[in-house]
Amino acid sequence: MKKTIIFLLATLCLSFALFAKNRSTLDFKSTALPTDTLKKDSTDPVCGMKVKAGSNRTILYQKTVFGFCSESCKKRFSQEPKKYIKN
Ligand SMILES: [Zn+2]
Repeated sequence: MKKTIIFLLATLCLSFALFAKNRSTLDFKSTALPTDTLKKDSTDPVCGMKVKAGSNRTILYQKTVFGFCSESCKKRFSQEPKKYIKN
């Protein structure tokens, strides 16, 4: 009886370990993507709205990641990026 319990516990621990491993791999992958996650809170260059860090609605332009509040702002920026960037 005791052996069965230990076996069950070991199996449980192992599946938890595997679960945790898969999770961390996924997390690593999502943070490793270079261009499409906003690293810090930013401002939408088109309309001036705040965009939270972690947003995937972004464009990498001239080595800078720009975040957008909506797909329409993103589209407007992608058509004429120079219009919205102050140099
Ligand atoms: Zn916007």
